[in-house]
Amino acid sequence: MTTKRMPVLFVGHGNPMNAIEDNEFSRAWSSVGKSLPRPRAILCISAHWETTGTKVTAMEKPKTIHDFYGFPRELFEVNYPAPGAPDLVQTVRKVTRMTEVQPDLEWGLDHGTWSVLKRMFPAADVPVVQLSLDRTQPAEAHYRLGSQLKELREEEVLIIGSGNLVHNLRLVVFEDLAFDWAVDFDRKVSGWILQNDHEPIIHYEKQGQSALRSVNSGEHYLPLLYALGLKEAGEPVSFFADKVWGGSISMRSVRIG
Ligand code: ZN
Repeated sequence: MTTKRMPVLFVGHGNPMNAIEDNEFSRAWSSVGKSLPRPRAILCISAHWETTGTKVTAMEKPKTIHDFYGFPRELFEVNYPAPGAPDLVQTVRKVTRMTEVQPDLEWGLDHGTWSVLKRMFPAADVPVVQLSLDRTQPAEAHYRLGSQLKELREEEVLIIGSGNLVHNLRLVVFEDLAFDWAVDFDRKVSGWILQNDHEPIIHYEKQGQSALRSVNSGEHYLPLLYALGLKEAGEPVSFFADKVWGGSISMRSVRIG
């Protein structure tokens, strides 16, 4: 019997406008979506849902959350009506034995999730749940929690981490350029990913000034650790975007398997 292990993605989502603009990133997401086997469900770990304790959305119909300000009305009018997957919640709770995961009926799909899925699965017909980031936990706990979710891949669940490997909003410029320190850290991390050397990625705070500027608030970096924690030995890794945009945002996106 051949096992159908679902690939894992980390998507650098960047500017929410990528949800509705036709550009190199939205095109890359669309083409990766077409290349994937059809998932039974999607579990997304978005940078935009930070909690105390780990939660998983458990509603039948998650709402589309427009969690940003100052963007055109067109973006606020986007609806992503994918169903939830309350049955998946039990599976998530079962496989994450070391972590207490609480079902949540308040959240929904934030733009870290829908801006990407709108491109990858435009029909919105695959059930979606979100897993929150417990910000009371250190980076290695997020990596470990990711690795506990491995079983879901065998059950045709597509797991997506959505954030940005380099993300410093205090220094962002809305132009197509890249600061040297951002490129430096982006290249270092991509090298470690390709060498399958996850320790320096987990302990980013020991990697010098470029790392500290690149991960100044953490929430966009942590979803990458879930994706890496899910990698099996010997699995192929590739990048479906690899550009630093806006000076301080890396759009690098990773496919495992
Ligand atoms: Zn974001």
